Amino acid sequence: MNKDKPNLALGAHQQPFSGIPTFMRLPATRDLKDVEVAIVGIPFDSGTSYRSGTRFGPRKIRESSLMLWGYNTVLEVNPTKTLNVIDYGDVDVVPVDIKATNKAITDEVGVVLNSNSKVISLGGDHSVSFPLLQAHKEKYGPVAVIHFDSHPDTWNEEYPDQPYSHGTPFIRSLENGLIDVEAYVQVGIRGSVESSKDYEDSRRLGARLITIQEAYNFGIPSLINEIRKIVGNRPVYLSFDIDSIDPAYAPGTGTPEVGGFTSYEMLQMIRGLHGLNFVGFDMVEVSPPYDNNDITSLLAANLVFEFLSLFALMKQE
Ligand code: MN
Ligand code: MN
Repeated sequence: MNKDKPNLALGAHQQPFSGIPTFMRLPATRDLKDVEVAIVGIPFDSGTSYRSGTRFGPRKIRESSLMLWGYNTVLEVNPTKTLNVIDYGDVDVVPVDIKATNKAITDEVGVVLNSNSKVISLGGDHSVSFPLLQAHKEKYGPVAVIHFDSHPDTWNEEYPDQPYSHGTPFIRSLENGLIDVEAYVQVGIRGSVESSKDYEDSRRLGARLITIQEAYNFGIPSLINEIRKIVGNRPVYLSFDIDSIDPAYAPGTGTPEVGGFTSYEMLQMIRGLHGLNFVGFDMVEVSPPYDNNDITSLLAANLVFEFLSLFALMKQE
């Protein structure tokens, strides 16, 4: 595959409104030879507890990515020229079976990781991060995790007989030793809970839980330094729940919580993490049926572009 050659078969080299929408008009292929980063969709929302719709996330994020032309003017890198990036398509999910879906995610993403490509996945609800972390642990061992969210997702009691949902991926990952617990940070946590126990439980499990109030007390530059300090040079996986952003900027999500980060603060924060030893990223909880004028999926596509840029900088450094 020649990355300088436009993706003629799809017609999407012509205009942003033309052709079949792969992420950033990248080649749609499952040929993993020499691939360095694969974009993988996971259109699954049967782990949601309130408003569903994230099964439509991957397709809409791809569509919203078509105006991204390639050069990152802040990080000064062109990730799709620096790296060989493909759009791998979607994991074959089973909408009525979360266990079968989890296995399909771990298996399919495992195939990509074992080809020595890295993965940026497009969810899907947050339940997908547990099987994603499983696949990354099999490749890299327990990884440090930077988890942007308004929810700690370490709940265990909502559905006591159902271990897998979008409220449990991180308790399951911690229990199963997928996360390097010395370096697990949650950022932007807020919103309505029943008691202080929700946050205490998360901290007891080992998370460094940074509430939105602490985050703003730090200020963005100091917050970036704090995250960098926690992670160090460990292999790190970044899990991004779009509800970490204020619903004024990202309304298209299932469980919005007021008083979150702005789009620009988050762009600053992601860009500020350059140089960390990233092994994978996910972008979850984008729910197009609740969006307004695609602003949430547009932000998600731009954040994924920043993730790609971070991978590209790792290659250059
Ligand atoms: Mn979440
Ligand atoms: Mn959330």
